[in-house]
Amino acid sequence: MQTLTVVVPAYNESEGLRDFHARLAKVLDGLDLASDVLYVDDGSRDDTYAVMCALREQDPRVSTLKLARNFGKELALTAGLDHVTADAAIVIDADLQDPPELIPAFVQHWREGYDVVYGTRASRAGETRFKKATASAFYRVMEKLSQTPIPRDTGDFRLLSRRALDALKQVRERQRFMKGLFTWVGYRQLPVVYHRDPRHAGETKWNYWRLWNFAIDGITSFSGAPLKLATYIGLATAALAFVFGLWVLGKALVFGDPVRGYPSLMVVVLLLGGVQLVALGVIGEYLGRLYVESKQRPLYLVDEYHPPHGGG
Ligand code: UDP
Ligand code: MG
Repeated sequence: MQTLTVVVPAYNESEGLRDFHARLAKVLDGLDLASDVLYVDDGSRDDTYAVMCALREQDPRVSTLKLARNFGKELALTAGLDHVTADAAIVIDADLQDPPELIPAFVQHWREGYDVVYGTRASRAGETRFKKATASAFYRVMEKLSQTPIPRDTGDFRLLSRRALDALKQVRERQRFMKGLFTWVGYRQLPVVYHRDPRHAGETKWNYWRLWNFAIDGITSFSGAPLKLATYIGLATAALAFVFGLWVLGKALVFGDPVRGYPSLMVVVLLLGGVQLVALGVIGEYLGRLYVESKQRPLYLVDEYHPPHGGG
């Protein structure tokens, strides 16, 4: 029989985890394959891990993985996916924003031969207009900049086939922008449209600062465009400065030059200084990332792993 593992990263989700599992379990019961659920505790500070262990006691399909601390969702997901031995894996959020009821459709498409079946959001309920607007702007910028086209309005909710999982396992970069990596894998990919529900319980772990950093990670991991941008801004400024220089020189030759010229001097100095700082900053972003990669640290550390103790 085919096997399926559902990977659920969770950080401070104790409030809603039982409801989540109940809804997920119902969907899995209806599938004609052997399924299990891997809960990854990403260093939660509440009793999420205790709830997971309790769920494992009640349901033989449940396994738990506890990370040594909070590594962030991308790494929690990586840790979970690394532990999957099944023929396919599903990635789903623990807050019921991704409806588990979509899983049978994912499985069906997988059986039709697709390697990556991903949920694309037609709507996002329960999120502020600002969040929706920034998210949409981000996806549009990514689309323009990234060499790997990253599908719009798509989260991490998806199914991955065995060979997609094996491919992902070979990608060991540290700044992991999972949405991009899932797409980078290629093979046969298929979107499934769904409506995103509001969070069931608890609150989002993403404030705008975290989202901003996430966006920078996404862009720098999948695009060198900002580096080019720095070059072009530099070139454009140099061209302007050259023209301006000619004009100043001409003026001085024709009219002579008493000491005036302080404003234009300041403008040039400040403008060039600003442009140089921006360019250095952009280079710094990439250099900083190279630095992190060069340290070759492990991506995450596991505290405890408990495989399922029965069933399928
Ligand atoms: N999550 C995680 N580690 C973190 C932050 C979040 O494992 O450091 C999990 C979280 O428990 C949830 C999923 O990632 O299952 C999505 O997080 P959230 O719902 O806060 O993000 P949003 O839906 O608001 O983008
Ligand atoms: Mg959520």
